[in-house]
Amino acid sequence: MKKWLRQIAVVVALAALALCGAGFVADAPQKPASGYRAFAKARCEACGTTKALDVHHKLPQHIIKIRLAAGKITAAEADRLINRDPDNVRTLCEHCHFAFGHLCDWHRWNANVDETIKSIKEGPQE
Ligand SMILES: [Zn+2]
Ligand SMILES: [Zn+2]
Repeated sequence: MKKWLRQIAVVVALAALALCGAGFVADAPQKPASGYRAFAKARCEACGTTKALDVHHKLPQHIIKIRLAAGKITAAEADRLINRDPDNVRTLCEHCHFAFGHLCDWHRWNANVDETIKSIKEGPQE
């Protein structure tokens, strides 16, 4: 991709994040420059849409920071979970992010998000 195109893409992504972030508290996308963006997929892992994609942290960033502050994990471990661990991030559209990643409350998060994504992809079972 041409450099200026990438720069425009970054500006658009930042603007989208700024808009989405208004009023959020807990695990709202906060650090678009962080490494986890490298793991973002082109489609929502639950519904498959390519529009309005977010990156969801299975273990939310604010909880990682609380654990770090409490001395339960090291700074390196916190950095890994937030920025470098593909297993801790899922790509979800804004709707699936709020509904399935956070159970319709940004203060909460779904500890079984992988099972939820799987059941949505597979649909109702006989
Ligand atoms: Zn979705
Ligand atoms: Zn999330």
